[in-house]
Amino acid sequence: MSDYETIIGLEVHAQLKTLSKIFCSCSTQFGNDPNTNTCHICTGMPGVLPVLNKKAVEFAVKMSLALDCRVNPRSVFARKNYFYPDLPRGYQISQYEEPLAEHGHIKILSGKQEKDVGITRIHMEEDAGKSIHSPSEGLSYVDLNRSGVPLMEIVSEPDMRSPEEATAYLKALRSIMRYLDISDGNMEEGSFRCDANVSIRPRGRQEFGTRTEIKNLNSFRNVQKALEYEVARQMDLLEDREDVIRETRLFDPDKGITVSMRGKEEAHDYRYFPDPDLVPLLVDRDWIEKLEKELPELPMARQARFMSQYELPDEDAQVLTSERDLADYFEECVKLYQQPKTISNWVMTELLRELNQAGTGIRESNLSPQLLTGLLRMVDDGTISNKIAKSIFPEVFAQGVDPVKLVQDKGLTQISDSGALEGVVDEVIRDNPDEVRKYREGRKKLMSFFVGQVMKKTKGQANPGLVNAILNRKLG
Ligand code: ADP
Ligand code: MG
Ligand code: ZN
Repeated sequence: MSDYETIIGLEVHAQLKTLSKIFCSCSTQFGNDPNTNTCHICTGMPGVLPVLNKKAVEFAVKMSLALDCRVNPRSVFARKNYFYPDLPRGYQISQYEEPLAEHGHIKILSGKQEKDVGITRIHMEEDAGKSIHSPSEGLSYVDLNRSGVPLMEIVSEPDMRSPEEATAYLKALRSIMRYLDISDGNMEEGSFRCDANVSIRPRGRQEFGTRTEIKNLNSFRNVQKALEYEVARQMDLLEDREDVIRETRLFDPDKGITVSMRGKEEAHDYRYFPDPDLVPLLVDRDWIEKLEKELPELPMARQARFMSQYELPDEDAQVLTSERDLADYFEECVKLYQQPKTISNWVMTELLRELNQAGTGIRESNLSPQLLTGLLRMVDDGTISNKIAKSIFPEVFAQGVDPVKLVQDKGLTQISDSGALEGVVDEVIRDNPDEVRKYREGRKKLMSFFVGQVMKKTKGQANPGLVNAILNRKLG
């Protein structure tokens, strides 16, 4: 074990899935032509007034409640002043001294270890536009479609102790957002962004070491890699009796390293002050209580319930509940066919593989719970072998064909007629005299060879239990 302890705190920005922007009625639709989703408000014309989008507040309040935060009855929007071409107003509207919510926590699972991470605050703000640089033309473009898209920033306490815990935290946050249907949580597309603060300290020491903040982390993998690199870099510095400098660093995903972006001296002074164009945000008790009642069962609670109600191992429960749609699908299947572990095995292997390959979610797929459970019933009642079930599964998945009909049409029914199988076994015994002799001399492992031969002759349709029994009897 290293002599140093790692301390990590994360700042997460998540785009809220509202139809319109936070202070105007422009669409938040991604991928439209540049500057088509804009108006006087989100392009920062002088003299216009922002009006807060209630849906954005609702989403942020739901997240706050899901993270056990105290929602402040009064919060305030401030102006964060800086210049950048994609911020025509010269300031970003964000909550600062009086945020929407504070003092929450979230349970995370890192490996098998459960742990609690404190949430310092959750506040709302608007996104900025996008600068698009074109070095070949020697030009830069500005697209303001993203300007004014609602964001929620979630700041954690410095409670994480390893890069693994940091990624587990991010995954837990994302899972909750997706359960609440308030954000896509897509790091690669930028709807879920993370800045990582990290420091180290000699084990046993109380005070934190100097931290650095890492930006440009656009995948879970990169968060993990950047933190690992940064921890090692800080350890080297301390080992060489040098100081860690408080600075912002950029992760370079190609090289797998972090490089200094700006030091403390260059840190911005944003001159925050309350935005006089917006009245304080008052959130009343009744509304909070109403939203609290509407919260769905959240991933960790659902995972625990899956373990007790369906007697599933924790890995199964964790995978099945990671996405709400998948968990719903699983439960629909169990209603149709009360074999939770059988269903779980198939969902976790065959189904997830097909979904990953197709790049779709279970909702968009053609595989209804009826089709999957229909297939599993045929395996369990001996109509088809597990092998045949696996071989036809991709077709059932892709085309949504009824597996019962498919098995009939293709004549794949398992051969469970011992008369028919005896004939095949006799052939195998006749064709492989050497193996039979060795088997009888004690090479019992050859049993699997004989089973394999029978399977081959029956194109995988023989009932394996029956084949074993007949072989045992005839070779015995
Ligand atoms: P800033 O406003 O400069 O971003 P904050 O106090 O809001 O600073 O902290 C930002 C993040 O840094 C929080 O997530 C917090 O948990 C984390 N953090 C604070 N101190 C440390 C430290 N010594 N090591 C690692 N993370 C830290
Ligand atoms: Mg910060
Ligand atoms: Zn607008």
